[in-house]
Amino acid sequence: MDSLSTPGTLRAWVARERARGHRIALVPTMGALHEGHLALVDAARRVADRVVMSIFVNPLQFRPGEDFEKYPRDLARDSAMAEARQVDALFTPSVAAMYPAAQEIRVVAGDTASRWEGAVRPGHFDGVLTVVAKLFNLVQPDVACFGQKDIQQVTLIRAMVRELDFPVAIHVVPTVREPDGLALSSRNIYLGPAERIEALALSRGLRAAEALWLGGERNPERVREAVATVLAGNPGIVADYIAVVDPVHLAPVAQADAGTIVAVAARVGATRLIDNLILGAGGW
Ligand code: AMP
Repeated sequence: MDSLSTPGTLRAWVARERARGHRIALVPTMGALHEGHLALVDAARRVADRVVMSIFVNPLQFRPGEDFEKYPRDLARDSAMAEARQVDALFTPSVAAMYPAAQEIRVVAGDTASRWEGAVRPGHFDGVLTVVAKLFNLVQPDVACFGQKDIQQVTLIRAMVRELDFPVAIHVVPTVREPDGLALSSRNIYLGPAERIEALALSRGLRAAEALWLGGERNPERVREAVATVLAGNPGIVADYIAVVDPVHLAPVAQADAGTIVAVAARVGATRLIDNLILGAGGW
């Protein structure tokens, strides 16, 4: 695995691999790697000859008071995990390397970014899209892999690619879970033992919604209530939102059809977790 930390060395690496005729896949991450990230690497490997993973905790997408400073960082461990999974190039720029001057330009997302995660974290998706646009320009990948777990993020990245004509295919990878259903997340390490158990309410709530839908329920409010009921059974959980929405604009639907997304965000103690499922896509 080649370890690269500057845009210049990354560009040179990409140019060399392109000259060899290789298809390149990009897997952007913020590190603290787990099997969810590594599933993206596996998916990338299936559709490309070379896999570039980036690890960059992007300050633009954190708001004051969020966990930018204390976001888990362990480059030695991440690097070993990436290498063991056959990542070809690991790009780990510093903040100064990515943003050498004060940033005057942002990619600004529209209405889809103002809902759900964007309502709780104003400006978050502008930060995400700006760094992803930079990574797309630096790597110019044929394909980029993102997790379904962050469904609003990948929905907006798809919109950016479509509307700004980035020549990259977006590949969405299903959420990787613990055996008990908890979606893997770098933030799960913040959970204490009791919180870890309470956190299962997110995936259990989603499964309850799916079961109701599979039983024929199409009323989005009933589907939403199925999640709310499970969350309400856990006093340590505070729901931020439960959304039953369409897959393109993430706007509430009048009827829950196949392809409708059920997304949930909740605080378990001090930790904020998100999860979702796509109705009719097959559960987990
Ligand atoms: P992050 O490091 O949290 O920014 O995540 C980097 C990428 O990994 C994003 O595309 C996430 O959606 C994806 N990801 C995070 N957790 C999971 C998971 N449990 N399963 C699949 N993909 C995930």
